[in-house]
Amino acid sequence: MSHPAASPHEADDAVLDDVVASLLRVEAAISALEAERFRQLARAHAVAAGRSVHRPRSVQEREIALRSIAAEVGVALRWHDRTAQRRITEAGALIEDFPTTVTALEEAKITARHAEVIREVGAPLLEPESRHEFERRVLTRAERDTVAGTRAFARTVAEELKPRSMTERHDDAVDRRRVWVDDDIDGMAQLGVIDSATKIRAMFDRLTRQARAARRVADASGGDVGVTDTRSIDQTRADLLCDLVLGGRPVIDPTHAHLPGGLGAIRAEVSVVIPVLTAVGASERGAMLDGCTPVDADTARHLLAEAPGWERLLTDPVTGVVLGLDRYRPTPAMRRFVRLRDVHCRFPGCRQPARRCEIDHNLDHAKGGRTTLCNLACLCKRHHVLKTETPWTSAQQSDGSIMWTGPLGRRTTDPPEGRVAFAPDPDPPPF
Ligand SMILES: [Zn+2]
Repeated sequence: MSHPAASPHEADDAVLDDVVASLLRVEAAISALEAERFRQLARAHAVAAGRSVHRPRSVQEREIALRSIAAEVGVALRWHDRTAQRRITEAGALIEDFPTTVTALEEAKITARHAEVIREVGAPLLEPESRHEFERRVLTRAERDTVAGTRAFARTVAEELKPRSMTERHDDAVDRRRVWVDDDIDGMAQLGVIDSATKIRAMFDRLTRQARAARRVADASGGDVGVTDTRSIDQTRADLLCDLVLGGRPVIDPTHAHLPGGLGAIRAEVSVVIPVLTAVGASERGAMLDGCTPVDADTARHLLAEAPGWERLLTDPVTGVVLGLDRYRPTPAMRRFVRLRDVHCRFPGCRQPARRCEIDHNLDHAKGGRTTLCNLACLCKRHHVLKTETPWTSAQQSDGSIMWTGPLGRRTTDPPEGRVAFAPDPDPPPF
């Protein structure tokens, strides 16, 4: 009896064995490279911090120096300069506060994400001894556990080593309260809020009670007074929240004596770019909100018809040329032209909507720069400060693109979003 040749299973096993061995090699190389990236970013951080050693400077000056360096790194690597600044700061903290972690990463005992968990969860430990103790214990765990497992363990250890009371920590945590927006797909977006748990729970409870009450009224009427409500509780909660934020007024209003109508009179403002065929109903192509969020055709047409508070412009379907502008809020034509042309801040990679930007002279007015369209551009507060306070310069080309030159002389060009032209006397827009 002869043995059969290696079974298909054995051949598979050999392949898988090689896959695992190869992946281990790849991961080890990546870990070593990630450690090297942290070290390089930390060098940039040291340069920003070191400058102030020789020449004492204010916190604000140090911040500006770091921003300029971050912009240099960000433009070269195609990162947003805020991202570059965050990564530089985080790498500086990692190298400074958790050096053993960086060595473990270099030796591929942990991954970069493990290292980030250690830096992030360990950050509130200000005493060197407790930080050292934290690093030692969490590293042992990180070498054999997943990132999520390490994070949970690190939190417990940090909790044990934290010298401060829950109340003190809560007071600090409350300083981080904020609201933010994330774009979603299919013309949707998410609104996030972080605030103390009691307030957030109370908000959710109130929305739920209101939604249930709305449902009870609709059910009781049985549809005979024209009240039918087919919405789910989730949908009703979302509708109520939008209604409250868009139409409500704050109970505590410090401005009511100074602003006519108080804070409640302030209305939302968003710009929407609608292809002309969509506007007249001949096409279902969507529109763009603030130059970055696509919205569906029906919503776009609804806005066009219903909402006088929206900045509106109609674009040619082929060339993207602006055909008409809303007549509701006339602003100086030049500022509007620049805002419409630029759509967002013109620093490479920045998406801050033009409406929230300042109009900057590419060549400073003080240096002879003229107030003409080809010398004006939208810059958000952050990048306006960067250009004013650091060696960064910008020059606009005849096609509206802007050439940026960093302190090291590296150059990068930001092209305009689209072309804008004003017809001498356009037909009345169809709204
Ligand atoms: Zn910007």
